[in-house]
Amino acid sequence: MFRLLLVEDEADFAAALADGLCQDGFSVATVKDGLLAFDLLQHRSFDVILLDLMLPGLSGLDLCARLRARGVETPVLVLTARTAERDQLHALEIGADDFLTKPFSYRILLARTRVLVRRSMAREQSVLAAGDLVLDRKRRSCHRGGVAIELTPREFTLLALLMSHAGSVVPKREALTEVWDFALDDDSKVLEVYVGYLRRKIDLPFARHALETVRGVGYRLDPHGG
Ligand code: CA
Repeated sequence: MFRLLLVEDEADFAAALADGLCQDGFSVATVKDGLLAFDLLQHRSFDVILLDLMLPGLSGLDLCARLRARGVETPVLVLTARTAERDQLHALEIGADDFLTKPFSYRILLARTRVLVRRSMAREQSVLAAGDLVLDRKRRSCHRGGVAIELTPREFTLLALLMSHAGSVVPKREALTEVWDFALDDDSKVLEVYVGYLRRKIDLPFARHALETVRGVGYRLDPHGG
């Protein structure tokens, strides 16, 4: 269930909106004050924030700017009665992801909210982690305990496959098919060779044993990083 934070000071409107969103499968928390919302976001995380601009305590724009300054990347959909184009542009400039001008259709709000949640889920999954071993598929980078590791494209693809199945055995056949785009025999030694390359980069220099051989089956990456 996706966690949604609704920051809106018009009580009736907020209640109606929260009702609908609950029925559509969101777990909804409602806050009426910008400062309280900011405090709440210090110790609770949400999948998406619906944010009114005119709020007591702290304006929606200031709240959004503060969150982004702290590195909080939760998607923000701004709900605004203001029709001025410059306010909408300003909202986007300080890091809001989308906005809707009141009055809006609930169906549109729901659709836009779902798009934001899906997008941020995809972004999250672009980073894979196993203990202190981190692979960022979007940035094409790899780190172990903050130390950058250079990988060739083939090594990168193989490690991404193993990390996305961390804890489970990736059968040899699956690795050969996923990582090499040309047909390789099951008895091909190329996979073993690349597993060796990876071990020399992600394990050996760090005195770890994350990449395990499961004899006769395939390979398994320790989800805790070895
Ligand atoms: Ca308001």
